[in-house]
Amino acid sequence: MKSARPPLPHSADVAARAGGSCRQPTAQGFMAAVGLWLRDHAGLLRALQWGVVVVYAALLIVPACLDLPEDSARIWNNLTIFAQFVFWGIWWPFVLLSMVLFGRLWCGVLCPEGALSEWAAKKGLGRPIPRWMRWGGWPFVAFALTTIYGQLVSVYQYPKAALLVLGGSTVAAVIVGFIYTRGKRAWCRHLCPVNGVFGLLSKLAPMYYRVDEAAWKASQQGKTIPIQAVDCAPLQPLRHMQGGSGCHMCGRCSGHRDAIELSLRSPTEEVVKVAAKEADGWQTALIVYGLLGVAMGAFHWTMSPWFVAMKQAAAEWLVDHDILWPLDTEAPWWLLTHYPQHNDVFSWLDGAALISYVLATALALGSGLLLCLAAGVRIAGPWRTQRLHHLAQSLIPLAGCGVFLGLSALTVTLLKAEGVPMFWANDARLTLLAGANLWSLWLGRAILARWSSGPRQALALMPLLAALALVDAAWGFMFWWW
Ligand code: SF4
Repeated sequence: MKSARPPLPHSADVAARAGGSCRQPTAQGFMAAVGLWLRDHAGLLRALQWGVVVVYAALLIVPACLDLPEDSARIWNNLTIFAQFVFWGIWWPFVLLSMVLFGRLWCGVLCPEGALSEWAAKKGLGRPIPRWMRWGGWPFVAFALTTIYGQLVSVYQYPKAALLVLGGSTVAAVIVGFIYTRGKRAWCRHLCPVNGVFGLLSKLAPMYYRVDEAAWKASQQGKTIPIQAVDCAPLQPLRHMQGGSGCHMCGRCSGHRDAIELSLRSPTEEVVKVAAKEADGWQTALIVYGLLGVAMGAFHWTMSPWFVAMKQAAAEWLVDHDILWPLDTEAPWWLLTHYPQHNDVFSWLDGAALISYVLATALALGSGLLLCLAAGVRIAGPWRTQRLHHLAQSLIPLAGCGVFLGLSALTVTLLKAEGVPMFWANDARLTLLAGANLWSLWLGRAILARWSSGPRQALALMPLLAALALVDAAWGFMFWWW
């Protein structure tokens, strides 16, 4: 039987077309060819995904079945420490970095959870996505809850906790896939705890799938053969897709109607231009209260003398008032950290203090940032809430850099324990922070330039500088001053 699909362009044609009349290969031609290559090697990508699923399952399940390592255990002689290093020291920080470099290529090509969810959806009930799942607040709520819960059970330190948090998320992804949609990724699009973060970071990527609406329209004229629909797993509105934040970069739509191709772009384009037409308060919440609030509190509390003082004062007050049950340490490991053999147990007070500290940090930092952004918007011109959401996007580089720095702190600690010289780590952190500050400032200036110019624009930049200083001070405490 003949396929209804019309011939699609091949990489050589695309490279030649992008090269113009002189037919020289160009960077754009190369990108388009990469997109087509991804489309044409779906089987290879699927095999790669299953390979990652196997490695992921092994690193997650095997350490949870072993005894906890002795203090003398090292990365190279203990599977548990090795898995801890791979997951939290390499996997997560570099997945975040990959979002900024390649968009959500990780999601579409390597993520084991997405692959399993899509596979389950192909076998499952195929129900439509319910309304509750479409709620826009999930990316923020799921991120905040997972981050706080992960701290309560010490997800970075203990394999059973990692299995519970990461494995639990994977099981949920499979169940959601099995129940909802026919072969799509409803979990990834709506419920994945890092979907919102990945969506924000991928806005900075220098590549995306560009849709040529005119070519799309032209492809509809005079066509009698139906064009085969694209199997876009995260359910993107292909024809009207403007940015890359929801796209998993799988390449399946490359060349579709001769109107979609992987393209290069300026790393400012999506934040400055595309976000100008959006007004998503949940994205703002995720940036200021999530990435720069909850995540900051979660990285801070183990180093913070304020946390210790707060907990000490609360404990003294409880003892003075003869209320002793909050000091009890018998909570199960899946609720609060409980590893007596390693002298690591949380009391109810520890858990309550941790949650309070993280939430207080989020509230103080997030509200401070929001005030600075609001001042910038107001100085630049008449107040519009949409403008506040737009300006908040300028903080994405600093927010992303912060999560990378926080996660890589564990990488540094583990490598130090191995005897690897890490004297350069603080200088590298300072360099990264400086770069992220400049990037945020660059974006902020470009956004403000849409509403103001001259001295007014320069004045409107001042509150943005204050917002950057606030975040820098928080990292200053964590890495230099405490
Ligand atoms: S829009 Fe959909 S099909 Fe196209 S690359 Fe992105 S995820 Fe894949």
